[in-house]
Amino acid sequence: MKPIPFSPPDIIPADIDAVADVLRSGWITTGPKTKEFERDIAVYCGAERAVCLSSATAGLELCLRILGIGPGDEVITTPYTYAATANVILHTGAKPVFADIRRDTFEIDSDAVARAVSKRTKAVIPVDFGGWPCDYDSLFAVLNAKKRLYRPRRGTLQTRFERCPVIADAAHSFGSNYHGIMTGSVADMTVFSFHAVKNLTTAEGGAVTFGSLPDFPAEKLYHRFQLLSLHGQNKDALEKMQKGSWKYSVDLPGYKYNMTDMQAALGLSQLKRYEKEILPGRERVCSAYDAAFSGDERVIIPPFRGPGRKWCWHLYPLRLRGAEEDERDRIITEMASQGISLNVHFIPVVLHPAYRERGYSIRTCPNAYTMYRNEISLPVYPGLPGEDAQRVVSSLKRLLD
Ligand SMILES: *Cc1c(COP(=O)(O)O)cnc(C)c1O
Repeated sequence: MKPIPFSPPDIIPADIDAVADVLRSGWITTGPKTKEFERDIAVYCGAERAVCLSSATAGLELCLRILGIGPGDEVITTPYTYAATANVILHTGAKPVFADIRRDTFEIDSDAVARAVSKRTKAVIPVDFGGWPCDYDSLFAVLNAKKRLYRPRRGTLQTRFERCPVIADAAHSFGSNYHGIMTGSVADMTVFSFHAVKNLTTAEGGAVTFGSLPDFPAEKLYHRFQLLSLHGQNKDALEKMQKGSWKYSVDLPGYKYNMTDMQAALGLSQLKRYEKEILPGRERVCSAYDAAFSGDERVIIPPFRGPGRKWCWHLYPLRLRGAEEDERDRIITEMASQGISLNVHFIPVVLHPAYRERGYSIRTCPNAYTMYRNEISLPVYPGLPGEDAQRVVSSLKRLLD
């Protein structure tokens, strides 16, 4: 039987042509296509500004660096995420503090955040897991209630915030919507991923969206991101190429996190059909799974429906009711032997050796473990034929009997 992959990239001939055009154009790295993609992302998300980068990881790290977060600081995040979210905190020298997720949902628990806030807390990074926006209202309410504890470091952008800033890890939620506001303009800064398995892809890539801060226009923030993403160089490669404009200065020791025009061209081409084809294609698959599994007592369907939030159908995390890790793992192996690729999202960050060695423990995050131990993510992509989705359903149901 034909194998069913988990999440192959959705690439059409127009995407290939768009990338080939850049290759033929004589300008392949950061340039006009990247600028155009940034404008289109900002418009799509209703954000003042967007900056394209080499990955979401780079975006998360630059948000922390731009805020001046480092050694001695704490950043609160969720254990229910890919390690990137927490690794970047370690990279800055700050300490990740994990607030557990809510019972039976995948989102960070604002009550746990409230308990974790201290005078050292300099940012919170929630994750829109699976493409379902987390509960930003209660998160902002908690941080507002705790704003007496917020100690912005002098001489940094932290002083532009009255409460602890929220950096959304929206790697999964491009195109989602929170009470009528697109992700990208809900949190103080929002980070998207365009990695190969994400809804919209540039192979590798990411973007950060943001607005103006008090006395600090979005344009100025954009310039900071640009400086940091290209070695602190005050002119990008394209500007340097203008006639007689070779001279530049390095204003700070920055990073190398810029996006190329090849990536941006792929992103632009994908964005053109994102609302009309890519999202409806994903919705079709997720709705078929919902219809097949709702009412089936052996499973728990994703908690991604409800008022005020719109899911972008990134993941379909199904839970096997009452199952433990070994049974879940057995089902993944059995499905694989029938050619169907499943996945698990996520191994809680605190379970990984890198974090255990640093003294973290799953005991502080019981809800994360409860979700993880019996979670399986089903294949979702726009080109997944209806009959293949039905084969996923029937194979799984047979194994559950
Ligand atoms: C994919 C992912 C990232 C990292 O994205 P990159 O673009 O690969 O750096 C971060 N957070 C979450 C939740 C992700 O799934």
